[in-house]
Amino acid sequence: MTAGLDRYLDENRDRFVTELRELCAIPSEAADPAALTRAADWCEQRLRAAGCAAHQVTLPDAPTLVVGEAGGGKRTLISVQHYDVQPAVPLELWKTPPYEPAVRDGAVFARGVDDNKGHLLLRIQAVEAYRAVHGELPIRVRFLIEGEEESGSMNLERLLAKEPALTDGDGALKEGGAIDSAGRPVLSLGGKGIYYVELRARTLARDAHSGGATHLPNAAWRLVHALGTLMDERGRIMIEGFYDDVRRPTPEERAYVAALPFDAAETKRIFQLERGFAFGRGEDEVRVASVYEPTCNICGINSGFVEPGTKTVIPAYAYAKIDFRLVPEQDPTRVAGLLRTHLDSCGFDDIEMVAKEGEMPYRGRIDDPVVRAAKRAAEETFGKEAVVLPSSGGTSPMWVVCFKRRLANVTLGMGHPGSGAHAPNENILLDNYWKGIRATVRLYELYATQD
Ligand SMILES: [Zn+2]
Repeated sequence: MTAGLDRYLDENRDRFVTELRELCAIPSEAADPAALTRAADWCEQRLRAAGCAAHQVTLPDAPTLVVGEAGGGKRTLISVQHYDVQPAVPLELWKTPPYEPAVRDGAVFARGVDDNKGHLLLRIQAVEAYRAVHGELPIRVRFLIEGEEESGSMNLERLLAKEPALTDGDGALKEGGAIDSAGRPVLSLGGKGIYYVELRARTLARDAHSGGATHLPNAAWRLVHALGTLMDERGRIMIEGFYDDVRRPTPEERAYVAALPFDAAETKRIFQLERGFAFGRGEDEVRVASVYEPTCNICGINSGFVEPGTKTVIPAYAYAKIDFRLVPEQDPTRVAGLLRTHLDSCGFDDIEMVAKEGEMPYRGRIDDPVVRAAKRAAEETFGKEAVVLPSSGGTSPMWVVCFKRRLANVTLGMGHPGSGAHAPNENILLDNYWKGIRATVRLYELYATQD
């Protein structure tokens, strides 16, 4: 059976890579609706070519949801993917242009090649390969490929509400997935939620001469003081009530995560962390925090004069972009309310809040056939014991898809520690890509009968 698959992948290697480059050449960033439409159409066509029935679910003013379905049998696996990508800027940091996919040293470089176009495509190519080698799939695989994941999946719930049966299934295959620095497949069973907000300060009708700094209020200082109330230097978020809804890990859950392999030295090397991890966290704390702790992160701050040279000015306006990653059972709407109350009670009622994204966290159970099947498929293919993580540090719209039926969900992917998702020179290793296809073919096979 694997000989048949080997042959099929050999024969179709070049075409599969060409397809990957074609999809990654489409600049499907949130700000480019025409490119989003092209990417959606491309996915629909590719699903059809793999033998799926495919259609698009649409709403006015939202990228469409591409749906594809193949196979039959007792179980339905919902494959939750996305065709949009993070902005490629700053372009000058890319060795080759982000939308001219380049193959160098066995790697493919392009915006979105890891997150999530490589993963979504290999899951479709795995359907094609399975059907070509073994015949019809022994499970039903349903692809839900959305176009707004990188900006908070704001319309996914409404899109799914148009066809509620789309979330009827038995387990979910989440986007992404990675191999760690020791070559171990990492399977994650959920993701954090998010509340993304802009905080804006305006103190003057217009910028002023800095000679007036004795009495004219500076918007940058105003904002910095407000930001300073949000979190202490140990990483503790100071907003009253923020931790009330956090479901604390049981001692067993905490011990399980603390015991998982974690290559602290490799992380320190990649990011050149000469001063160690943030908040003075020790190596044993890092892993537990990454699964169970919510965050308050400044994504960017902007105000005043930031060009080369000098200009003595009091900025009238300042803003910061903040993301809070949330853990079960935190709710972004409630966090927004707590933040407003916090700012007001600290005397910052003039700081404006503009919400950008809100998503619920979701952690599925570990004790489920889809997790066991993915673990077996990963271990057989990558030849190492898998690391099963209760949650990734990132956000995927799994609550929207899985909550109704409390579905378990799992990643089974091929990213590597240097993949650079969301960063310049994003890349995947082709060796991992082929293994990713093999592992996915195996998952489709195993999930039909896995206890
Ligand atoms: Zn993604």
